[in-house]
Amino acid sequence: MDSKPPLIVPRAQHNISRANISANALKVLQRLHNSGFQAYLVGGCVRDLLLGHEPKDFDVATDATPEQVRGIFRNCRLIGRRFRLAHVHFGEEVIEVATFRAGHDQAESGGKLNDEGMIVRDNVYGTLEDDAWRRDFTVNALYYNIADFSLVDYTGGLGDLEFGRLRMIGEPFQRMREDPVRMLRAVRFAGKLGFRIDDQAEDAIIKLGYLMDEVPSARLFDEVVKLFHTGYAEDVFGLLRHYDLFRYLFPETDELLGHQLDQFPYNFVAKALASTAQRVREDKPVNPAFLYAAMLWEPVRTRAEVLRDQGLHPQRAMEEAAERVIAEQVRITAIPKRISQQSREIWELQDRLMFRGGKRAIRLFEQKRFRAGYDFLVLRNASGEYGLQELTDWWTRFQEVGDVERHAMMRAIDAERTNKGNTVEDDYAGNSIHYVPGGYDDDAPPQSQYDKRHHDQGETTGPTGNKRRRRPPRKRRSRAPRSGA
Ligand code: ATP
Ligand code: MG
Repeated sequence: MDSKPPLIVPRAQHNISRANISANALKVLQRLHNSGFQAYLVGGCVRDLLLGHEPKDFDVATDATPEQVRGIFRNCRLIGRRFRLAHVHFGEEVIEVATFRAGHDQAESGGKLNDEGMIVRDNVYGTLEDDAWRRDFTVNALYYNIADFSLVDYTGGLGDLEFGRLRMIGEPFQRMREDPVRMLRAVRFAGKLGFRIDDQAEDAIIKLGYLMDEVPSARLFDEVVKLFHTGYAEDVFGLLRHYDLFRYLFPETDELLGHQLDQFPYNFVAKALASTAQRVREDKPVNPAFLYAAMLWEPVRTRAEVLRDQGLHPQRAMEEAAERVIAEQVRITAIPKRISQQSREIWELQDRLMFRGGKRAIRLFEQKRFRAGYDFLVLRNASGEYGLQELTDWWTRFQEVGDVERHAMMRAIDAERTNKGNTVEDDYAGNSIHYVPGGYDDDAPPQSQYDKRHHDQGETTGPTGNKRRRRPPRKRRSRAPRSGA
């Protein structure tokens, strides 16, 4: 390991001001300092503050052991089995306090690798310097010292920040082997910061992608949520596809993306991610169930189609398809039951939203998952799935009007059915979701009333409109403020 003195940037030469640091984080830093311990902000928060972004959370590193931290703060809980961390609670906000750790190669004992070179245990305390070198990327290894408000840089992170470069600390192949999730982290930060992944790290990602198979499914679930619940989810998706990592997260979807018609399902996934990202940017809540429903829609849709063709009732076909797709996916990313259940409800609503006669529309409307189901329908329509315009417009209007008008809308549906002599069963037989995306076969007879309408108008392809090509990785650069170095 290199053992050079770090670059120290005094307060006067950097732009991190205490005004931008959470008051609770400052309290923790100050209290540790006053108790005679070292205390630093570290990781994403320092990086983001330097870039002028608002940090997601504030992490603290110290030479106090977790037990010592607990001795100082009443509102403190120790967590973690792989390594112990202290969480200091202030209502909603949690400040994570970690004791300096050494990387596995600095540790004589306590750190442990398995046969593939993967870390299985790394609970060895170390010095500030050890702690810097065991981190993943140089821009994530910058420290803000509460003792004198200076910045401490052991790994060249300040320079990389300035050049918009994501550089792995140490030897990229070895570091990615130790923990393959670092490949996903590289992509997440490249997407979020608009940084370029440096050549060697990129090479390691391209060659070691297969190691993703070794990552425990529970950890992969967490990573997927982190990857896509950012304000830059579409960029991250583009990069995951570019580096061919997406297939280790959503193999069935990835496979289907290879056989797309008219940019479907690519458009659908991209639009779902764009709308999620928009919500994140607006600080609205986002739900992994919607994300999973969107990511797995194409596998569910195509499987349901096959089952329907085999004669299964459409609703059963959808349930059965959902069941199988979730069962496959859970082996890769351990989706908690409560979340997969919500995804299923969103899918099942897609069929049920077609049936609006009698009191059904009102009942659907009052369902807990209605809004998610409707939003999902809007996305399908917007991304070119065929024949959903009328249905989408109907539900949009249904929500805008008052009670009287709503009942009139439902009566109109009933009247239409009576005029045609249809029953609900007929609707199911003929009108259930017609599983043809944008690319519609001209010669095939239309199957649903929506298809009929569009067919009559001579419209034979879905409104795919703006085509989107696969994006190369971003070259966008963010400049770090002058470090004074
Ligand atoms: P975000 O803004 O998304 O929270 P972050 O950089 O803070 O980004 P975290 O996952 O919160 O990321 O981790 C905090 C810090 O811990 C990182 O900045 C990095 O220094 C270190 N770290 C996290 N995961 C790893 C890992 N797998 N390998 C090495 N270091 C890691
Ligand atoms: Mg963080």
